[in-house]
Amino acid sequence: MKRLVIIGAGISGLAAATAAADARQGDELEILVLEAGPKVGGKAQTIRRNGYLLEAGPTGYLDNEPLMDELVQKAGLEKLGADDAAARRFLVRDGKLREIQASPPRFLTSGILSPGGVLRIATEPFRKQKTDPKDESVWEFAARRLGPQAADRIIAPMVLGVYAGDAKRTSLSAAFPRMAELEAEYGSLVKALISLRNQKGKTSGGPAGPSGKLTSFAGGLDQLPLKLAESCQARGDFQVRLNTRVETLTYGIDSARPNDDPGGNPEAKPGVWNLRISSNGTTKAIQAEAVVLATEANVAAKLLASPAPDIATELKDIPMPHVAVVGLGFGPDALAKAPRGFGALIQRGGGIRILGVLWDTFLFPERSPDGTVLMRCMVGGATDPEAAKLTDEELVALTHADLTKLLNLDGTAPIFTEVVRWPNAIPQYEMGHLARMDRIHTAMASLEQTAPGLYLAGNYTAGVAFAKAAKAGDAAGREAAERVLKDANRPSQA
Ligand SMILES: Cc1cc2nc3c(=O)[nH]c(=O)nc-3n(C[C@H](O)[C@H](O)[C@H](O)COP(=O)(O)OP(=O)(O)OC[C@H]3O[C@@H](n4cnc5c(N)ncnc54)[C@H](O)[C@@H]3O)c2cc1C
Repeated sequence: MKRLVIIGAGISGLAAATAAADARQGDELEILVLEAGPKVGGKAQTIRRNGYLLEAGPTGYLDNEPLMDELVQKAGLEKLGADDAAARRFLVRDGKLREIQASPPRFLTSGILSPGGVLRIATEPFRKQKTDPKDESVWEFAARRLGPQAADRIIAPMVLGVYAGDAKRTSLSAAFPRMAELEAEYGSLVKALISLRNQKGKTSGGPAGPSGKLTSFAGGLDQLPLKLAESCQARGDFQVRLNTRVETLTYGIDSARPNDDPGGNPEAKPGVWNLRISSNGTTKAIQAEAVVLATEANVAAKLLASPAPDIATELKDIPMPHVAVVGLGFGPDALAKAPRGFGALIQRGGGIRILGVLWDTFLFPERSPDGTVLMRCMVGGATDPEAAKLTDEELVALTHADLTKLLNLDGTAPIFTEVVRWPNAIPQYEMGHLARMDRIHTAMASLEQTAPGLYLAGNYTAGVAFAKAAKAGDAAGREAAERVLKDANRPSQA
C-alpha cells in the first residue's frame, strides 16, 4: 500500500490528514501523522487547573473560513462565539489604558492621538496612492497613509499583538495583504472603511484584515485538534503516532550519506522518501511516497537540509522569536477593576513591558472560577528578545507589576499563575517574505522533478492565523494524496 506521511499534528498537519483522507475516496492509501509531542494540537494547547482554563497558544480563530466549519463538524463539536464584550478593545499609551472608541468625537478625546494626529488621519483620503510594487513595511505604509503618530501609537501595537512582531520590519503585503488591497481598490483606507461599512451585510472587516467572530469551544481551543484526531482515527481516516519525532528526511539513497555511511540511513530505499523516526528511545526507518511537512519553519529547515538545501536556507532565515504566555488569576478586587473587554494592545516605551493583555474571563464562559478574573499576557517577541532569558518567577513578577500599573491593582496578588514558553512562537513575515516564498515555490517545483511528492504546510506559508494554517494544511494534504493516487493508478509502462 502507498503511504503519505504528515510530519506534525498541529492544526495544519491535522487539516492535511483530513483533506488527504477525503481525497482518498476509498482508494488504498495509508495516511500517517507523526507528532513529536505527547498531544496533538501544536500551539493550540489548553491548560485546565484549579478551575482556570488557560489557552497556552491561540485564544481562538476567526470563523470566516468555511474549512473551519467542516473541521468542527468532523470533530463533532459545537463552536462557541466570543461574548459581545470582545468588541471592546483597549490600547495603552504612556502607561495608561485607553478605550479604542469607534465614534470619531469619542476617539478624538480618547487621548490615543493628538489633535494633529487625528487631523492627519482625516486627510488620508487626499494622499497619493503608492504605485511602485516595492515591498513596504507595515510601519512605512501606516506612516505614509495615516501619519507617523498613528503608525507608532495604533499600528505598531497591533503588529505586536498579532505577530509579536516589529512593524518596521514586517512586510505589509505578506502580513496584512488586506490593507494593501484596500489601498489599491479604494485609493484610501478611510474611504474603504466607510464604503465597507455601508455595504450592508458584508462581513469584510476593517483595513487590518477580514472580519469574523472570535470562536472557540466550551472546553477550550484544544478540543478541535483533540476531537478531530479522535473521530478521524475512529473512522479509520488516518493514524496519529504521538511522541514520534522525525529525525531525518531524505529522498532515495542520499548520495552525500549513503547507507553504509555512519551518519546515513542504513535502511533507505530508492525512489521514495526515507524518514528516520525516534520514539520512546528507539529509532527506526520508514518510507513514504509523499510527505507533508507541517512543522514550524525552523524544523522544516532542519529536515530539508539534505534533500533540499536551497529551501532549507530560505526557511532557516525566517525569524521565529520567543514568546512567553503568562496567565495570572486574581480575586474580586481585580475583577472589579478589569474592564469588560477583549484586552489591550500596548505602545512600546511607556514603561510597560508586556506585549498585550487579554481578559479571558470576559471572552468565553468558565475561564476562571466565580469571583475571579483570568488575565493572559504575552512577553517577548521580535522587539524584546531579552525576555527569553527571564525565569518564570521574573516573568510572573514583571507581568504582575505591569498589570498593577495598568489597572491600579495595588496590593492585589495573583492567586493563580501559569507560564508557558514558546521558543519558536510565530514566524515573522518580514520584508521580502513573499519573494522568499516565491523562491521556495520555484525550488519546490524543481525538486518535484528529482524528488517528487514533498509538500509544505504550516503557518509560514500562507498566514499565521490558526484558520490560515488549517487552510494551508488542507491544500497540501489534498494535493499530496491526489498525487500519490494518480501515480498509483497510472498504467504500468512495462
Ligand atoms: C502564543 C500564541 C498565540 C497565538 N494566538 C493566536 C490567536 O489568537 N488566533 C490565531 O488565529 N492564531 C494565533 N496564533 C497562531 C497559531 O496558533 C499558529 O499559527 C497555528 O496554531 C500553527 O499551527 P501549525 O499546525 O502550522 O503549527 P504548530 O501548531 O506549531 O504545529 C507543529 C507541530 O509539529 C510538531 N513537530 C515539530 N517538529 C517535529 C518533528 N521533527 N517530528 C514530528 N513532529 C514535529 C510539533 O510538536 C507541533 O505539534 C498564536 C500563536 C502563539 C504562539
